[in-house]
Amino acid sequence: MNDSVREIKGKLLSDLNKRMAETCRCTLKETAKQAVPGDGNPDADILFIGEAPGKNEDLQGVPFVGAAGKFLGEMLASIDLSREDIYITNVVKYRPPDNRDPSPEEVADCAEWLREQLALIDPKVIVTLGRHALNRFFPDAKISEVHGRAFRREIPGLGIRVFYVLYHPAAALYNGGMRDTLKQDFKKIPKIIEKILKND
Ligand code: URA
Repeated sequence: MNDSVREIKGKLLSDLNKRMAETCRCTLKETAKQAVPGDGNPDADILFIGEAPGKNEDLQGVPFVGAAGKFLGEMLASIDLSREDIYITNVVKYRPPDNRDPSPEEVADCAEWLREQLALIDPKVIVTLGRHALNRFFPDAKISEVHGRAFRREIPGLGIRVFYVLYHPAAALYNGGMRDTLKQDFKKIPKIIEKILKND
């Protein structure tokens, strides 16, 4: 890990998140308490993308701090990683009222914010959590068919990136079968990173 790169990216990311919080046109701003831009290592090799902040995230301004976040932390620990090693954010940066699904307009309004985060952090792997994050990049994909698989896909203006598809930890929390599948899929992450680093 290069400390000075991490420091510089951290400052740029914090400026970006401040600027986007001021200029983002997302109408969810009207009902949310605050923006939840993202959290973790600004120079991470792995960037996780969830759906949208929930109640706890809205209160604290930090993603994945509730039950789903705790489960995510356990899965990270199972592959010897912690929240400080990765960056984590969401497709939309404000809590939808009553935790409803974000609308296509809300996803589009926050799209530039996510794109700029990806450009700045420049991760080696983008892990999508749940169908909203998956469909943001692969609109026609079905999560039940593609979870646990890695894909290369061009992000306009950024170039080709590797995506890895996972079920959402909140969906898997109370569904034993999905929970086991998510844990197994999660364990494949180190091999994927190793393979990418070898080809770098
Ligand atoms: N679920 C998400 O998709 N994101 C969060 O930040 C919390 C729960």
